[in-house]
Amino acid sequence: MQFARAVEVYEQIEGTTKRLEMTGLLVGLLRDTPPEDLDKVVYLTQGRIHPDYLGVELGLAEKMVIRVLAHATGLDEGRVEKLWKEKGDLGLVAEQVIASRRLKPLESTPLTVAKVYANLDSIAQEGGEGSQERKIRLLSDLLSNATPREAKYIVRMVVGKMRLGVADMTIVDALAATFATKTDRDRVERAYNVSSDLGEVARVLASKGLKGLESVHLKLFRPIRAMLAERLETLDEILSRLGKCALEYKYDGLRVQAHIGTEKIELFSRHLENITGQFPEIVEGLRSAVKDRAAILEGEAVPVDPNTGEFLPFQEVSRRRGRKTDVDKMAMEFPVTLFAFDCLLRENDDLTPRPYRERRKALDSILRPNDRIRLATVRITDSVKEAEQFFDEALQAGCEGLMAKALESTYDAGARGFQWIKFKKEYSAALSDTIDLVVVGAFAGRGKRAGTYGALLMAAYDEQADVFRTTCKLGTGFDDETLRHLPDKFKGSQRERRPPRVDSKLEADAWFDPEAVLEVRGAEITVSPVHTAAWDKVRPGAGLAIRFPRFTGRWRDDKKPEDATSTKELLEMYNLQIKRARKPT
Ligand code: ATP
Repeated sequence: MQFARAVEVYEQIEGTTKRLEMTGLLVGLLRDTPPEDLDKVVYLTQGRIHPDYLGVELGLAEKMVIRVLAHATGLDEGRVEKLWKEKGDLGLVAEQVIASRRLKPLESTPLTVAKVYANLDSIAQEGGEGSQERKIRLLSDLLSNATPREAKYIVRMVVGKMRLGVADMTIVDALAATFATKTDRDRVERAYNVSSDLGEVARVLASKGLKGLESVHLKLFRPIRAMLAERLETLDEILSRLGKCALEYKYDGLRVQAHIGTEKIELFSRHLENITGQFPEIVEGLRSAVKDRAAILEGEAVPVDPNTGEFLPFQEVSRRRGRKTDVDKMAMEFPVTLFAFDCLLRENDDLTPRPYRERRKALDSILRPNDRIRLATVRITDSVKEAEQFFDEALQAGCEGLMAKALESTYDAGARGFQWIKFKKEYSAALSDTIDLVVVGAFAGRGKRAGTYGALLMAAYDEQADVFRTTCKLGTGFDDETLRHLPDKFKGSQRERRPPRVDSKLEADAWFDPEAVLEVRGAEITVSPVHTAAWDKVRPGAGLAIRFPRFTGRWRDDKKPEDATSTKELLEMYNLQIKRARKPT
């Protein structure tokens, strides 16, 4: 098929914002497309060459495309660049300069969809020595045969900015309308949700028709679109809706879909991006934790501070992109633990149509938990009281709430429904203010922090008793220089034993007289059985802890330890926060 036909439809699609109209236009295009080009047209319409999860990126550098455009049109590079600055869209520039080019090619062949796709694919796949030159040649080859309008879309594609505004679900609608009837739309969508590959769905529809979709199954190393959760206001509502159900801790991290084969393990994000390279410690952990070798698991990856054993905010690992050495360093510094909550494939057996109960059982049986891979904590109940207690436990453990799951629910890929209901609390506002805490002890560092302290033990001041009670371990927010000098800095106030004015359940590696005051920012205050601030005040046998504490960099030399935040203030802040705690976001 001529590429011009697709471009004609793209122009019309750009002219509308109405989904129904877009669908109609797409149906027209798909009907005109011969079976062998169908998947290619679908990918090109999405502005890509392969499904997302394969990670094949076009994204040529704009500078390079400018060079090719200048070359193809006989224009000066500076002139093309100036036009780009004016228009901000290299596609529009391409359209203009190709239209007004002085050097017309001696002969040109109309572009076909197959030719455009093949060249773009080669551009995306080229790598290694001399690849720049080959990419330039492939693009020049297309541009010298392109009409101005074709050039516009080709250039947008190569720089990774196609942005036609056609949602994947609109393509699903169009495919259903082209190959089936409206009532069969769900079957088409299901195939897409399971395969995450619209090109594949198009290919199957074109070659085997609607019936062929039944052969689209969950497959190792091809991610499935994630099942999503609805939310409800109270645990009461959740339990009335689901009845007896499974409540799981809701971990605050990054959703990971792990595909475990005999030869390799691959990890995918919630957006189906291949993130294997970013989490070497999960891959390593899975290797020993999973007995079965053809499995797909889902879980939440949470960074853990190896010095304190506590969860860290996810930002600590979200910077894990780029060079492998950096990733390895960060994996040592802030390793993540994967809390597995679902099992979608076992021994190549697709478990998604099976009820939650069965999938969880499969998960429990194939996993041998280790430091890096653990099972999500779960409780099955129909009691609101028990659920509330479990919710508090989840918060204490550093989680952001609960995920309720219907016991009989199947895994509905890509769907957001009431089979899963999230219940979390709001925080952050309560601790928008910083607090000032007193250093009372320290823990020896490990890994990169060997030889200095890994974390400081921080306390709030109890005015009534005139003692300092611990409320967190502080390990983040220090620059390297400060870290290195910590032992020196505290040498003068170090004591052999816990000073009498310090109340702590934790055994620190070094104890200090309460002197230094540090400004700390935290995410919220949680109930904790290990910290002694406001002990017994909220719950018997528990104190208050600061979650995600971070040193702001400010030493409050202007404050005496008795001027630090008091345990009474912490309690007030906690109460303020708890007022909103059962109100979900
Ligand atoms: P969503 O993923 O629903 O679009 P979101 O990205 O804002 O929303 P949340 O509202 O925080 O995320 O809740 C859903 C997410 O919670 C899941 O996508 C998953 O990453 C995470 N999660 C943590 N623990 C669990 C669990 N036990 N079961 C399922 N999901 C969990």
